[in-house]
Amino acid sequence: MIASVGAVVTAAALLAGAHTAGAAPVPSAGPAPVATHEVEYFDGPGAEPRHKVVPAEAPARIARHRAPAAAAPAATAAAVTAVQETGPVSGRLDLVVMGDGYTAAQQADFRADAQATLDSVFAIEPYASYRGLFNIWLVDTASAESGISGDPTAGVVRNTALSSYFFCEDTERLLCLDTSKVTAYANQAPASDIVFVIANSAKYGGAGYSFPTPPAGASYHGVATMSSDNAQSYLIGAHELGHSIGNLADEYQYAGYGAYPYPSSDSVNISVTPDLGATKWYRWLGEQDPTGSVIGTYEGGDYYETGVYRPTSTSLMRTLASTEFNHVGREAMIKGFYAYADAVTSTVPSGTRVRANEKLSVRLAPVTGLSGLKLTWYVDGKPVTRATGRLSVTPAELGATRAGRRVTATVTDTTAAVRDPAVRAAATNSLSWQVR
Ligand SMILES: [Zn+2]
Repeated sequence: MIASVGAVVTAAALLAGAHTAGAAPVPSAGPAPVATHEVEYFDGPGAEPRHKVVPAEAPARIARHRAPAAAAPAATAAAVTAVQETGPVSGRLDLVVMGDGYTAAQQADFRADAQATLDSVFAIEPYASYRGLFNIWLVDTASAESGISGDPTAGVVRNTALSSYFFCEDTERLLCLDTSKVTAYANQAPASDIVFVIANSAKYGGAGYSFPTPPAGASYHGVATMSSDNAQSYLIGAHELGHSIGNLADEYQYAGYGAYPYPSSDSVNISVTPDLGATKWYRWLGEQDPTGSVIGTYEGGDYYETGVYRPTSTSLMRTLASTEFNHVGREAMIKGFYAYADAVTSTVPSGTRVRANEKLSVRLAPVTGLSGLKLTWYVDGKPVTRATGRLSVTPAELGATRAGRRVTATVTDTTAAVRDPAVRAAATNSLSWQVR
């Protein structure tokens, strides 16, 4: 649970490595400070995104309508279903999907809506190629009423499991919720790195909550809210994962913000210099890009209009009118995937001692498309090329018969979507054993 009263927990660093100039001031909260988060929202599929500081919990007029499940979250056992479980939670990116405004009788609707959202998001690269690095969990959240608050108008209040509501902070398309309730449900999944909340609504809207450090009691780094029946809402989730998995900065600017006030940017997709060779994406310069641009330096980004540059004219990190990450974004996403997930796992724990005739079987994550996994075996650091690609070997077969010799299985992703050697290193996983 988030201990909210008396603690201001504004997520000031909304975007890791980015600046938060888009933030509105913390609203006056009366006598006691109110726990808040900074969120990003979209007035429409093609509209300029915005940021706002919102309460971590729903306003009293909405929150007092508590679903029985959320009233005592610690004691609730929600039904959890694996949409896909491709590996151990320690070696996978665990995405949790939950609904709000679905009654107990509407759980089949929720599952269908969740599947449609996931299919849309995972049609986008590099999610498509790397879906095999994810476990995806559905958590059922039965609401007392169907639909959510603020739909269709601001005065509508419904009793739902997560207290989702449009018109958050008087902004129609901003879809907020009670993050402590999200945490209570997310914690019932085997693991939760990222959460999607699908609101049972046809009204366009959503929000992105990004947490460089998970909120109290939670393990997730991001929550994206989306409406279920609007065909464009899934792009809000796809964009928000760009922040919470890829650490990407926004590539849009606000009219009137003027010149970039910072001497540098930590974000891989933002540069303070138009000097092509000095950008962080120099390895991609001149390439035709999935967004339709040629990679270069385009002025405007990270909320400012001048003195700051982005890699492509448009992208999913600039507008939801684009459904593609640029090459720079794809590479950052792949780096992020591997920060959470390993491409190689084994039932024989890495670091243990094994007999020379013991079978060492490894499993490669079921990645596809852009990815290209290469498995190499080593004995004491020397490659055994005749064993390349073999999923099961014994140390003796590799020539490692004496006690103390070290056997290593290394998987490198040779994908052409990665050019930075540091990212390639991050996309390399190894397991090791010692012969006893
Ligand atoms: Zn954004």
